[in-house]
Amino acid sequence: MDFSHSPKVTALRERLLAFVDEHIAPNDHLHHAQQAAMTDRWQPVPITEALKPKAREAGLWNLFLPESGHGAGLTNLEYAPLAEIMGRYPWASEVFNCSAPDTGNMETLERYGTEEHKERWLKPLLAGEIRSCFAMTEPDVASSDATNIQTRIARDGDHYVINGRKWWSSGAGDPRCAIFIVMGKTDPDAEKHRQQSMILVPRDTPGVTIKRMLPVFGFDDAPHGHAEILFEDVRVPVGNILLGEGRGFEIAQGRLGPGRIHHCMRAIGLAERALEMMCRRSLERRPFGKPLADQGVIIDRIAQSRILIDQCRLLTLHAAWRMDTVGNKVARTEIAEIKVAAPDMACQVIDWAIQAHGAAGVTEDFELAYMYKIARTLRIVDGPDEVHKFQLGRMELNKYRAPRNARPGESV
Ligand SMILES: Cc1cc2nc3c(=O)[nH]c(=O)nc-3n(C[C@H](O)[C@H](O)[C@H](O)COP(=O)(O)OP(=O)(O)OC[C@H]3O[C@@H](n4cnc5c(N)ncnc54)[C@H](O)[C@@H]3O)c2cc1C
Repeated sequence: MDFSHSPKVTALRERLLAFVDEHIAPNDHLHHAQQAAMTDRWQPVPITEALKPKAREAGLWNLFLPESGHGAGLTNLEYAPLAEIMGRYPWASEVFNCSAPDTGNMETLERYGTEEHKERWLKPLLAGEIRSCFAMTEPDVASSDATNIQTRIARDGDHYVINGRKWWSSGAGDPRCAIFIVMGKTDPDAEKHRQQSMILVPRDTPGVTIKRMLPVFGFDDAPHGHAEILFEDVRVPVGNILLGEGRGFEIAQGRLGPGRIHHCMRAIGLAERALEMMCRRSLERRPFGKPLADQGVIIDRIAQSRILIDQCRLLTLHAAWRMDTVGNKVARTEIAEIKVAAPDMACQVIDWAIQAHGAAGVTEDFELAYMYKIARTLRIVDGPDEVHKFQLGRMELNKYRAPRNARPGESV
């Protein structure tokens, strides 16, 4: 295991850090001001759009997509330090065409799409011309168990007809969101894990209705947003199915691994920024006649934050390395570990940073409240903590069930 940066990553890192220093950090307030001033909140934010051509010109575009001819050709391990830098500012990843859920959807199309799907949807997504959403979760069933998904995808001649209600379809608020990847049941009588399929639904298909946008702790996340969507007799050609009927779980496994670890990489960047803010504020704020930074409890929290962040970074790099070397399916243990650890760590570090800022910490002036919102929802998104822990615990126990199939400390 060697986690040092390759020359290629070192060069990209330097370029990315320079770009963030020059274009992202100084425009952070402008980004929020522009967003706040927009009469229609569901339109692209001008500064984000203005920076995209610059990022492209700087060769900082589509950095994800491991082993692909489309992206920068980086492995997951190589991408991790770059995603962390982008993650420091919640709006930055989009500037580099590296934001969720488009990254996961592009990987899905790249891996499981036909040449026609790639031409029609992947190409414009890679170019940043359109955006996408992934619609799995449903309001009426416990969706952390994806076998519960009820949306019906029924074959009717040369078409599939889709009926169902989804919610928390992130990204559907953006007017450029042109394609939905929808999960639903093609065969309710098949074996449990062969009932579900994934299908491509163009947003403008008759019968697709966005019912409302869901706020998160009061934030609307515009123009990206999280939609509740109704599918009523939505007809799409049979060719829109991904990989074939009953292959939905297989695709979900392939899609969610990279998506989950990308969230963790960005969460580490977010926590690093919160720690930096905590340190700066503690050095300048002087309650009871001395800098806050001189209080033992603050020094302890700063030290603890450093330990927690570094632990999570190592776990993330290890999981990324496993994905690169043994594949996403075998690396599911390591992915599950970091999916639990990183959001929990980020919540803790951001919470301490908020506390060090006093009341200022909960205003929008310092962005910590928004950062906390992101970290907290990551404990639910892409599988709640408990589901990952349940699977991790079972895999750990399996080592000690007969027949014995692993040694303590080994992955199963
Ligand atoms: C900001 C945000 C963005 C999202 N984006 C998307 C998106 O783009 N596309 C999409 O399809 N979905 C998205 N989601 C939805 C998310 O993936 C689901 O909310 C998640 O999978 C949990 O499903 P659920 O809400 O139905 O919870 P439920 O299945 O109802 O579970 C409720 C709670 O039960 C507990 N629980 C579940 N299983 C166990 C267990 N085995 N043991 C103990 N406790 C358990 C967990 O604490 C869980 O939070 C998003 C959610 C949020 C908040």
